[in-house]
Amino acid sequence: MSTLEIKGIVASVAGKQILNGIDLTVRSGEVHAVMGPNGAGKSTLSAVIMGKPGYEVHSGQVLLDGVDLLGLPAWKRAQAGMHLVTQYPSEVPGVSLTDMLSAAYDARGRASDGLAASVAAEADRINFPVALLDRSLNVDFSGGEKKRNETVQLALLAPKFAILDELDSGLDLDALRDCARRVEDLSNTDGPNGRLGVLAITHYNRLLEELLPDRVHILVKGRIVASGGAELADQLERDGYEAFTDAPAV
Ligand code: ADP
Ligand code: MG
Repeated sequence: MSTLEIKGIVASVAGKQILNGIDLTVRSGEVHAVMGPNGAGKSTLSAVIMGKPGYEVHSGQVLLDGVDLLGLPAWKRAQAGMHLVTQYPSEVPGVSLTDMLSAAYDARGRASDGLAASVAAEADRINFPVALLDRSLNVDFSGGEKKRNETVQLALLAPKFAILDELDSGLDLDALRDCARRVEDLSNTDGPNGRLGVLAITHYNRLLEELLPDRVHILVKGRIVASGGAELADQLERDGYEAFTDAPAV
């Protein structure tokens, strides 16, 4: 059982303070949704947790099983068990999915025997066309293919925690269902690192019909202004963000 604790994070980018004190705790097997309007700081939160350069953290901690990740470069955070699925997955010309995974396995001291077969099985499981496996990573993939491809990576790397930054953006309903179901399965099934803990950033309820949240948090202007169960996402769908815009931080 692992724990990801985000404690009192205040952070800025390009000289502007975006996160004004974020507290969140996610445990293995839990799915937490973070919902909020455009510009609320959702992607900034994912960047700060993962260590994207250019973001300045003024105070707070990001603890993975008690170890503060904030002093570590992104690749060490990944090795420690963190994984980010970005909103716009990077295209990597000349590198196939299997090449990339093989390098990631090496970096984690994991043997990559049988990797090609595991990739094929995962791809099949979420309807990612096997013909795409030999192509360069994400290059000229459709939105749905990119997110399926990222989900294959996530399933095989089996991190302790995954942050999904708008997994639902840029893909059709079938791809959304396949990817969201796979992540939901990962949160319910013991892997090499136990059950996957998930921080799912999204605008929309639709993702949460397949990826079932244990907790929903509403992020507005760099603060969490409401936290609750799945019913909070329904309330948001009904009332919009406006109802929360002027709420004090919880
Ligand atoms: P969200 O993901 O909730 O839509 P973001 O975290 O992307 O919001 O952005 C929050 C605010 O921070 C926005 O006003 C955005 O313009 C600003 N911001 C984010 N990244 C950068 C950056 N690299 N340089 C300048 N401003 C940024
Ligand atoms: Mg964003």
